Amino acid sequence: MAGPRLLLLVPTTTYRTEDFVEAARRLDVDLVVAAERPNTLAAALPDHLLTLPFADPAASAAQMREYAGTHPVAAVVPVDDATTVVGAAIGQALGLRANPLAAVSATRDKQLMRETLARGGVRQPAFAVFSIADDPAAVARARYPCVLKPLVLSASRGVIRADTAAEFVAAWSRIAAILAEPEVRALGDGASKILVEEFVPGVEVSLEGMLTEGNLTTLAIFDKPDPLDGPFFEETIYVTPSRLPEATQRAIADCAGQAARALGLTDGPVHVELRINDAGPWLIELAARSIGGLCSRTLSFGTGMSLEEIILRHALGWPIASLERERPAAGVMMIPIPRGGILEDVGGLDAARAVAGIEDITISIAKGHTIVPLPEGSRYLGFIFSRAATPSLAEAALRRAHALLAFNIR
Ligand code: ADP
Ligand code: CA
Repeated sequence: MAGPRLLLLVPTTTYRTEDFVEAARRLDVDLVVAAERPNTLAAALPDHLLTLPFADPAASAAQMREYAGTHPVAAVVPVDDATTVVGAAIGQALGLRANPLAAVSATRDKQLMRETLARGGVRQPAFAVFSIADDPAAVARARYPCVLKPLVLSASRGVIRADTAAEFVAAWSRIAAILAEPEVRALGDGASKILVEEFVPGVEVSLEGMLTEGNLTTLAIFDKPDPLDGPFFEETIYVTPSRLPEATQRAIADCAGQAARALGLTDGPVHVELRINDAGPWLIELAARSIGGLCSRTLSFGTGMSLEEIILRHALGWPIASLERERPAAGVMMIPIPRGGILEDVGGLDAARAVAGIEDITISIAKGHTIVPLPEGSRYLGFIFSRAATPSLAEAALRRAHALLAFNIR
């Protein structure tokens, strides 16, 4: 007997389908997967593989309302950034546990997010928004250092620090070129603007949380031990638990909770990025989704429950035995792209996998494919996972394993 029907919204590019499908299998739900492009198996499995126009949330919601008339749906779960808005629209249309549409929409547009957080009194960098049609030389009378970024991209794509007017103008034209790419222009109006923010010095963390009726539970805080000072902001190492003092961690959770409230989010996972300095935590970004890439594989809760299972259970309104992270420290390295070119070969994998504390190494770009570093690129070379008695040991294992890898790039 299949359990309740759960709708999973899978964007065209995501690392995470497998982990969510695995969690659904363990829960024994009747899984329905919706994608934007027709799947070759869709004709054979018309009730389980749907095609929805994600870019049109209202149309997707209408289509799902019709489907649900004959196939009742108990829960909807968006898998990544690109499906959070359509997930909220479907949730609202079907009366399911979900975030309000307006709240999620604000997290997907960095201008709206900053304006909403400002109204909520959340500590964040001073900011201003410009049109790419503006003359950067005139705009460059900014205060330095500052950070320029697109409104609608992610994974630090197009995020550039400028320390001088000359760097500002150079960063501006580099972002303008990214925004001119057809697949970026398709993202709508936001793709014609540039956000300029005051540079916030300090260390950076991410907080993974779960909202339940507006209340935020911290699932994990990750330190990012490699300095993120620019000019580009490539993600590398994440380590949990955080080594920051208890009081600082409480301030981080308070700031994240205040941000979620200001945005009006109520239910589901959040991934919050903050920087911390003497003034306290500063909100860099809040996304209404769980941690990206394959990084959630570092987390397990209670007696071995995955983050994906917690997310599915929450959406279904099912009990969750424990939101306590399992004790050992854990780390992940998003393997940096050293330079652009064609990935010929990755050496040293066996030696790197044999390093004490290393759990797994996944290379996520196939041999022969082109790799593009930041600020233009948007993918990782792969992921290294570690587990150890302490955060320092988990971090050291990642560095040792990474040093053993040899990337042959033509
Ligand atoms: P994205 O959506 O592409 O992840 P973010 O706004 O989160 O864009 O920026 C990516 C990274 O750039 C952040 O994690 C942080 O390291 C850095 N960054 C962004 N804005 C600032 C800022 N105002 N001050 C300092 N660092 C910043
Ligand atoms: Ca971010």
